[in-house]
Amino acid sequence: MKKLLIRSELCPQNHKCPAVNICPMKALQQKDYNAPIVDDSKCIKCGKCVNFCPHKVFCLIEN
Ligand code: SF4
Repeated sequence: MKKLLIRSELCPQNHKCPAVNICPMKALQQKDYNAPIVDDSKCIKCGKCVNFCPHKVFCLIEN
């Protein structure tokens, strides 16, 4: 089964995350300029956010 990993250490945390609005399931949330967090119960592991973030913060892994 896949899981979405958010590598927050790669996020500069100084801007509004554009991937939050890309997610078709509204599974991503961002508080202020913090790295986004994912609601695993909503995420369908489609990978849209993975391809969208230029800092490669999102990563789909097998778990
Ligand atoms: S993998 Fe897809 S459903 Fe999951 S957070 Fe990313 S865009 Fe949303």
